[in-house]
Amino acid sequence: MVERLVDDPGSCKGCSADVNVSEKQIRRMLEVMAMKEFACVSEAVYQDRLQQCAHCPSLQYGTTCAHCGCIVRVRAKLAEKHCPLPGNRKW
Ligand code: SF4
Repeated sequence: MVERLVDDPGSCKGCSADVNVSEKQIRRMLEVMAMKEFACVSEAVYQDRLQQCAHCPSLQYGTTCAHCGCIVRVRAKLAEKHCPLPGNRKW
């Protein structure tokens, strides 16, 4: 297992999860969220949050926040969530 993690640059060093999330996987997560009727922010707020993430140095692989490990396109949709940047939330 350790060898796989070291040899596979796409795998997370802290667990066996693949950190490269595909567009298809992200769309599926968003579909599931819509079906479960989570409290979500408006489209305008969602887009503003994603803009903040897009310009943030903590965004990894274009998909994932380095501080919480969340897929930002999923986290940013949820009304109860906030940016986890310590001491200086961006949203
Ligand atoms: S620290 Fe905040 S703005 Fe930066 S990627 Fe994470 S959620 Fe987005």
